[in-house]
Amino acid sequence: MPYLDPLSIGNKKAMSSDFSKIDITNKIKAEAQRLGFSACGIASAEHVESLHQTAYMSWLTNNYHAEMHYMQKNIEKRLNPQLLCEGTQSIISLALNYYPIEKQCTNSYQISWYAYGKDYHLVMKDKLYQLFDYINNTLHPIEGRVFCDTAPVLERFWAWKAGLGWIGKNNQLIIPYQGSCFFLGELFINIELDYDSPQTNRCGHCTKCIDACPTQALQAPFLLDSRKCLSYLTIENRGEIPQEFHSALGNRIYGCDECQKACPWNSKSPTTTIEDFNPSTSLLKSDNNSWNSLTESDYQKLFRKSAVKRAKYKGLMRNIEIAKKNSK
Ligand code: SF4
Ligand code: SF4
Repeated sequence: MPYLDPLSIGNKKAMSSDFSKIDITNKIKAEAQRLGFSACGIASAEHVESLHQTAYMSWLTNNYHAEMHYMQKNIEKRLNPQLLCEGTQSIISLALNYYPIEKQCTNSYQISWYAYGKDYHLVMKDKLYQLFDYINNTLHPIEGRVFCDTAPVLERFWAWKAGLGWIGKNNQLIIPYQGSCFFLGELFINIELDYDSPQTNRCGHCTKCIDACPTQALQAPFLLDSRKCLSYLTIENRGEIPQEFHSALGNRIYGCDECQKACPWNSKSPTTTIEDFNPSTSLLKSDNNSWNSLTESDYQKLFRKSAVKRAKYKGLMRNIEIAKKNSK
């Protein structure tokens, strides 16, 4: 298959006669590439479309968000970018590749790939601010905000709208020829740019992600029940993990990558060029004995500045206890 320059993906709308706007857009994309982003697209900051709005509201009504009560808050802000950041005209969506160069030995307890390296919030925010400053200082004075998983933003919707890829049946944003192992971030800014168009869904008749899910958390295409999802149960969930999911947990102790591993679009994922996302030698060396005897101080050292802090020591040890029983 031909390699598609990720920074030019998305079907461009009709050319505008405003060349300075196009020039600014192109320079933003070139700078995004220089900063290490794998893809960059731009959408007009309109109200979220009713189809996506209805799907989100129905997902909440069915309690598929489990105990993530923050998903129920600020719904109007989630759906209307103007309420989150007044004056926003353009949403620049950016993707950072985390597909690891080196992976843990499959015999040892497994950490989800995205959490191998430094906390993505720190890495992404740093790059988003650099891009924001570049636009403001070099191209055009702007006002706005940057976001990365820290505010009520429908990130995958905006990535799709900005032409980065499509939302797959596993609910991940899939970038053609690159896969779904990406962190997403956004710039909400107050100038008009040249906008990209959404891509059509290319999942076709495939159901590999749904078939591969160990707990049937993917109830149907595009429909995730977080209450059954191992990623939710091992990370966000603060209580006990229900017994019915213990055996499905296998040797996973933080997150789950099964619906991504199964996806054919990830079979040729390029590896990350972001050094910070690579696993540390200590993580790669950790065997089950060291996990089983992990002290709080080991945990603090091993996961300093890591996304694994999200589960807290107590949560990680809860998961390790189950993995330990499963390994017997
Ligand atoms: S992360 Fe794991 S448990 Fe959750 S939907 Fe994907 S495969 Fe299923
Ligand atoms: S596994 Fe198949 S159905 Fe699932 S997201 Fe990938 S292409 Fe789409």
